[in-house]
Amino acid sequence: MRICRFNDDRLGLVEGDQVADVSAALKVLPASRWPLPHGDLLVAHLDAVTAEIGRIAAAAPRHKLADVRLHSPVANPGKIIAAPVNYTLHLNEARDDKQIHHGAFVKPIDEAGLFLKATSSLVGPGDGVVIDRPDRRVDHEVELTVIIGRGGRNIAEKDALAHVAGYAVGLDISVRGPEDRSFRKSRDTFTVLGPWLTTADEVPDPGHLDLGLTVNGEKRQGSNTELLIWGVEKLIAYASSTYTLYPGDVLMTGTPEGVSPIVPGDRIDAFVEGLGHLQVEVRGQ
Ligand code: MN
Repeated sequence: MRICRFNDDRLGLVEGDQVADVSAALKVLPASRWPLPHGDLLVAHLDAVTAEIGRIAAAAPRHKLADVRLHSPVANPGKIIAAPVNYTLHLNEARDDKQIHHGAFVKPIDEAGLFLKATSSLVGPGDGVVIDRPDRRVDHEVELTVIIGRGGRNIAEKDALAHVAGYAVGLDISVRGPEDRSFRKSRDTFTVLGPWLTTADEVPDPGHLDLGLTVNGEKRQGSNTELLIWGVEKLIAYASSTYTLYPGDVLMTGTPEGVSPIVPGDRIDAFVEGLGHLQVEVRGQ
């Protein structure tokens, strides 16, 4: 099932080139009061929501996919976890290009660990990426992105995929420079998730997916998740050895080689096999 959030926070079921408005399925969510539980309420109750979607979808009003504005399918992630250097060829290009490494020693993931991006940086493709510091180099990074379903701590690799709610295409937009990753990659709009959440049952093996990215129609990145240094299972195990994972936590698995600058006016098309094309415009202010 492909689930999106569109227009004024409507819940959508994506079928071909159409979106069924299944917002009525949200009635299965429990009422919440402060303090809210950790995690995203929709993802925490995804099984009940998808069951209700199954009951109401046939009679739901429909829109053309091209006519709706897509927001991040996860509205309220507790955290956005990201892998810094998780493809060997990206490690090599980062070490070779001073504009990327900026004088810092670029360490592979087993030495660098993970980092966190601010949840306030998260947008969907319909919201756009804003580059308001034209004096700094800003790069695209396409990444297979995991949405945690069932939370946990110290999750074993063999159990990891059972904790996944679904997958989406992610963009880890990055200012290059000397500051910490969490600062450079957390500007508003610098985490793009979408175009929708594809439920995990449709992705039996996240370890063999083509992914890539074009800017203004020109190919910049192209790889396959079989080239991840640490795959999805190991990333979940490693992340959960430090952070308790909660429903709706977003895990970005790292970018392959081919990162390059983007500027206002660019149009990015990023894809992961089976998860759709995330199309987003880059704006100035
Ligand atoms: Mn990245």
